[in-house]
Amino acid sequence: MGRAPTDGVRLTLAQGHDLAVKALTRHGCDLENAQAIARNMMRAEADGSYSHGLFRLPWCIHTLKLGRANGAARPGIARRAPGLVWVDGGRGFAPLAQEAAIPVLAQAARENGVAVLALRNVYHVAALWPECESVCEHGLVSLAMTPSFPYVAPAGGNRPLYGTNPIGFGWPRRGRPPMVFDQASAAMARGDIMLAARDGHAVPEGVGIDAEGRPTTDPNAILKGAQLAFGGYKGAALALMVELLSGPLIGDFLSIEAEADDGGTRCAPHGGEFILAMDLARFGDPETILAHGERLFAEIERQPGARLPGDRRLDNRKRSQTEGFVVPKPTWHAIAAALA
Ligand code: NDP
Repeated sequence: MGRAPTDGVRLTLAQGHDLAVKALTRHGCDLENAQAIARNMMRAEADGSYSHGLFRLPWCIHTLKLGRANGAARPGIARRAPGLVWVDGGRGFAPLAQEAAIPVLAQAARENGVAVLALRNVYHVAALWPECESVCEHGLVSLAMTPSFPYVAPAGGNRPLYGTNPIGFGWPRRGRPPMVFDQASAAMARGDIMLAARDGHAVPEGVGIDAEGRPTTDPNAILKGAQLAFGGYKGAALALMVELLSGPLIGDFLSIEAEADDGGTRCAPHGGEFILAMDLARFGDPETILAHGERLFAEIERQPGARLPGDRRLDNRKRSQTEGFVVPKPTWHAIAAALA
């Protein structure tokens, strides 16, 4: 998840939101899109998802300035089958389409027991836990995934093929935030390798290989070579599944195709996201199912040193409401330049 920045400019979440909206509207987003992107980024900042907050704002602005993303896009939402919500994001950024489509997904899941949201033709799907959490807020179990650009070599290979391909999973809880895990299938998220390169830190062994295919802990060498999946061929198989479900199945790009579409412009990734929602009430008595899940959570927490995934984020969320968050100086300067 990367290190919490300490050296930079401290903002409240409201200030961060306003700053993002100002910068995005200056560069071609309409207010509705800018606010949806800013909400998404502030959820990331609030929870300490450092590589998905304002750090990504200059990238979004670059994508707008080149005219690749449509800052005024409105999602087209259709029920292609009772349990299939088909969304064309119109080359807009993902957050507005996600916000509009998740209630439709929830309705489809309630009607059918399970439903899939095929979110297509959007830019920059960021962290997945916000949408997993949003689906859980409808009382549903969620599973989300997305490809990106080819960064990760297949098992035994030496050239990038898969995206860092995250998988998010959310389980609702009564009276408290859902349990959500959200993890790249790469050994380390790309954004965190970029942050390590920016801050001059080495990364752990097993994170990647250099351009000659040799193992290295130098983040700059990995950015020129290839990342590795976590857990060897097992993580690589999950990355492969993410490519298939959020690429060919929903009629959108593989990571290698997203790179070709980008054409070397280094914009945010253009592609799709797959989100599955499951309605507890169609599987059994929701209270019984949730209480049964709580038994597992209690057993995890009974073990010294063990915690639930997401607890770190939720602790950060409480703290950031009063303490705000820190924008590292390089990000601050990049945003200031975009506003000059
Ligand atoms: P991490 O390895 O930091 O964490 C993965 C998950 O494991 C989190 O849910 C985390 O919870 C949980 N976790 C971490 N430590 C423990 C522990 N000791 N016990 C129990 N659970 C634990 O995440 P990644 O670096 O893999 O990914 C970071 C983010 O980057 C994700 O949000 C992901 O969606 C995003 N990403 C997006 C991509 C894209 O193309 N859109 C590509 C790749 C990644 P907690 O957060 O509470 O620590």
